[in-house]
Amino acid sequence: MTEKGKVITRFPPSPTGFLHIGRARTALFNYLFTRKNGGEMIFRLEDTDQARSTKKFEDNIIESLAWLGISYDQGPFRQSERTEMYKKYLKQIIDAGLAYTSIETDPNDPKISKEVIRFKNPNKKVQFSDLVRGEIEFDTTDLKDFVIARNINDPLYHFTVVVDDFEMGVTHVIRGDDHISNTPRQILIQEAIDAPRPIYAHIPLILAPDRSKLSGRHGAVGVTEYRELGYLPEALINYLALLGWNPGTDKEVFTMEELTAEFDFSAVQKGGAIFDLTKLKWLNKEHMKLMPEDKFEMEVMKYLSEEIKTEAKFSMILPKILPLIKERISTFGEIKEMAEKEELQYFFSMPEYAPESLLCPPKFRKDKVVDLSSIKAILSDLKALIEPLKEDFDQSIIKDTIWPYAEERGRGIVLWAMRYALSGQEKSPDPFTLASVIGKTETLKRLENAIQKIK
Ligand code: GLU
Repeated sequence: MTEKGKVITRFPPSPTGFLHIGRARTALFNYLFTRKNGGEMIFRLEDTDQARSTKKFEDNIIESLAWLGISYDQGPFRQSERTEMYKKYLKQIIDAGLAYTSIETDPNDPKISKEVIRFKNPNKKVQFSDLVRGEIEFDTTDLKDFVIARNINDPLYHFTVVVDDFEMGVTHVIRGDDHISNTPRQILIQEAIDAPRPIYAHIPLILAPDRSKLSGRHGAVGVTEYRELGYLPEALINYLALLGWNPGTDKEVFTMEELTAEFDFSAVQKGGAIFDLTKLKWLNKEHMKLMPEDKFEMEVMKYLSEEIKTEAKFSMILPKILPLIKERISTFGEIKEMAEKEELQYFFSMPEYAPESLLCPPKFRKDKVVDLSSIKAILSDLKALIEPLKEDFDQSIIKDTIWPYAEERGRGIVLWAMRYALSGQEKSPDPFTLASVIGKTETLKRLENAIQKIK
């Protein structure tokens, strides 16, 4: 027996697909409501569709919930293990004359006839009040005598969900509003088996930016996909909570604890919630900023290639580039993109490039015509300026040393040549930052290397 007055919720996915963000948000709203009210959440796998339910999907759902930090108090239960109980209730309502077995011919093939169990519709008006939608009324007449089981051993969703919610003492049914039209049928079945009616909260669907139903063709929809793209579970949770729920303030960055404290159905919108990847990315970056340094480093490590990780100077350089990486990325997956664009390798090893690249493109110069021999002279001057500096210089020391010279010779030309000599890239941090990351010795080596390139 459950404690009287205790909130009991349930998250009952069908293991017929990977956990997608829509279902994950349903799980989250259940979780937040349950925790806020000191209740218990049940996790139930609705696997009566044996043909489409697989272990692979089951595992994916379980792992995704764990990764997101959405815990439950009971389960996983499996409907496939509860057939006897459904049978008991089916018999009970058939015996009471509230459902009946009917032999019907297959609409596609009149030669085939099969048995189904239909619910005897009392044809009445059903009213219920929904925590999000308010008062709702349905006339069940249109539903006719709907099918609740293929046979006594093979009950269908409407029946199993009602029996389970009753047997498990569920007090609140929180689910996507694509289920709203199922509710009248389920209420009729509850009345037939003498089950109390739970409180309903139907939450708005997640829509694509064009207001169509969000699906794979709009990009990643699986929780695991976001995990692989290098999103933080904290950020995805934060984002999903804001999809349809409005905290009523300007605050946007929330931890799970804060969400639990503030979540409330009265602030859940009725209309569809539009998925906005830019906002998710922004939140991911915000949560990255909140990460302790060591955790951030651990996460970065997962996305760096073996090639980089086995570089001789790796452990010396890594701490210095972590802040640069943090500034540059919104998701950890972007570290891979940085590597692909050659934006990381040069921190660890001598870059390769054609000597002509050392020439600053005209659009960055101010009227000064340059050729490679003057670049060569500039690089030598830079070497001479840097040589007397202490080994561990920071970027402001280098900048102060070089700036007056750059002003005199033409900032665009000098800074470009220095940056290119150090990184071999058109896009990279400024040359002072680069020099401070790779250190004085390596800086001089790379300047000399550039000089040698120019014949
Ligand atoms: N198995 C159903 C689904 O995944 C559950 C719906 C409900 O919450 O009642 O859609």
